[in-house]
Amino acid sequence: MKKAAIISVGNELLNGSTVDTNSNWLQKQLLTVCIPVVYTCSVVDDIDEIKNAIEYASKKADVILITGGLGPTDDDLTRQALAKYLNVELEYYPDIYEKIENFFISIKRPTVEKNKIQAYLPEGTIELDNKLGTAPGILYQNRKILIASFPGVPYEMKAMFDNCIYPKLQEFNAGSFLVVKKLKCVGVGESSMAQMIGDMMERNRTPLINCTVDHGVITLHIVSQAKDEKAARVAVDKDIEKLHSILGDYIYADEDLSLAEAVGRKLAQQKKTLSTAESCTGGLIAKLITDIPGSSKYFTYGWVTYSNEAKISQLGVDKNLIEKYGAVSSEVAAAMAIGAKAKSGSDYSIAVTGIAGPDGGTEQKPVGLVYISIAGPNETKTEHFLFGARNRDFIRLRSSQVALNLLRLNLCN
Ligand code: AMP
Ligand code: MG
Repeated sequence: MKKAAIISVGNELLNGSTVDTNSNWLQKQLLTVCIPVVYTCSVVDDIDEIKNAIEYASKKADVILITGGLGPTDDDLTRQALAKYLNVELEYYPDIYEKIENFFISIKRPTVEKNKIQAYLPEGTIELDNKLGTAPGILYQNRKILIASFPGVPYEMKAMFDNCIYPKLQEFNAGSFLVVKKLKCVGVGESSMAQMIGDMMERNRTPLINCTVDHGVITLHIVSQAKDEKAARVAVDKDIEKLHSILGDYIYADEDLSLAEAVGRKLAQQKKTLSTAESCTGGLIAKLITDIPGSSKYFTYGWVTYSNEAKISQLGVDKNLIEKYGAVSSEVAAAMAIGAKAKSGSDYSIAVTGIAGPDGGTEQKPVGLVYISIAGPNETKTEHFLFGARNRDFIRLRSSQVALNLLRLNLCN
């Protein structure tokens, strides 16, 4: 199995001016040709730094993709660094220079002396045609390694990869197949999950299982490598079946789906409707739900009832309930859900009330305390959660995700 490394070159990537989107894009492309990326780095515009990065990457990978540093200015040094790594001189190609001149003629601008450097390639390399700009790419290939150097401009890099390198990589990696599937899980912590699935996450195992977490949603990436597609798929499917039997309802999708999308699909399948009554989440749950195209099939109403008055007048929450238990309470959360369900006529309603902070917490009701209530066709269930005095965004997003998960579990039953 071939492996890849990506080097992105440019001071702007290391001083916070430009986000390295090239690496991200290339990582995805490489997976489609079954060459996983094992190493990615960003380096400054310096010949030795770039050369050292290539040297290091060549110890880890069979394919090295470099972006940036092929422009005409003095800080564009990738071609010199590549020549130094290969221990060769730069060679001038008059035909490349002619192409650069023609490119400038086509956009009615003069070619200047500075562009001449772009007509130089390290000896033993070949030009990658750039139809969208002046900087040609560079390809070095022998039986063991393939090094491609692209311009940094994202659209030039993408076109060059698609036209010149993608077909080469398919050829270079013939006889090896990779299948990656994702399982999306929620409602369980990362460490508890790791404990449950035990040695399935061992590093030298095939398929290899990796785990990423984002606001309570865990993604299990199951990476299967084999000599043919069928063998790779069979191994992945076997693992997915095993993980389902271990993790049960913690798994909410067998594909890369957001929680809101998974909940939306369930509502649509069951022909049920939903309304929301939100306090501390300020409409975030309604936003997550309506981010999904087609959500009008199941989403009917969304209230943001931030004040007590709004909870009373809009949702019909009993004033005495708020006085007795406080707006952040199990009783008020339930009354909000019941009120929203009744007023909207929806089958389900989600209500959230809590303390998102940073102020407003007390000893009895600290920042991060959130009540979530789900009113359904037969019953109303309310739970409280302690998300801790983290930041406001964290508490609001986590509350929204947990609320969506509670609804999902209701819909599973
Ligand atoms: P260069 O080929 O180094 O002259 O890069 C040209 C321009 O492409 C830079 O000024 C950046 O705006 C952009 N760029 C370079 N590298 C990247 C990268 N890794 N991700 C996104 N944009 C980039
Ligand atoms: Mg640059």
